[in-house]
Amino acid sequence: MKSVDLRDRASVQELEEIRTKLEKLTEPQLVELFFQVANRFTVGSFSETSSFEDKPVVAYSSYDFQDGKHEGTLSVACVHDPDVYGLGMEFDVFCQSGTCSNCGVSVISYAKKMICRLCGSKVYGT
Ligand SMILES: [Zn+2]
Repeated sequence: MKSVDLRDRASVQELEEIRTKLEKLTEPQLVELFFQVANRFTVGSFSETSSFEDKPVVAYSSYDFQDGKHEGTLSVACVHDPDVYGLGMEFDVFCQSGTCSNCGVSVISYAKKMICRLCGSKVYGT
């Protein structure tokens, strides 16, 4: 995992400035930005016996406050497919879901045509 040199990490004041700016983002913008930044935190464990790669994700799920239980599945948030929508398109809310046919993870997105966060495959939401 790549890490930030502790001498270069953000100060408390810088973190507050970043937080203020992040609060102005839409949900799709926040997830896109997270992925762009979080890609450097991918942990690889490639060897002769392992090909796993751990990636930080944003995930959505439901929690029932009345019975205190998790409901349904945990879905990985995915960004739009830039080959379909291009860059700079504005999206609204997370309303598309599905399953990646390549890796099998449950996915959710603001775009019908998305990119699986885990394997990079194109996924069609419904
Ligand atoms: Zn996948």
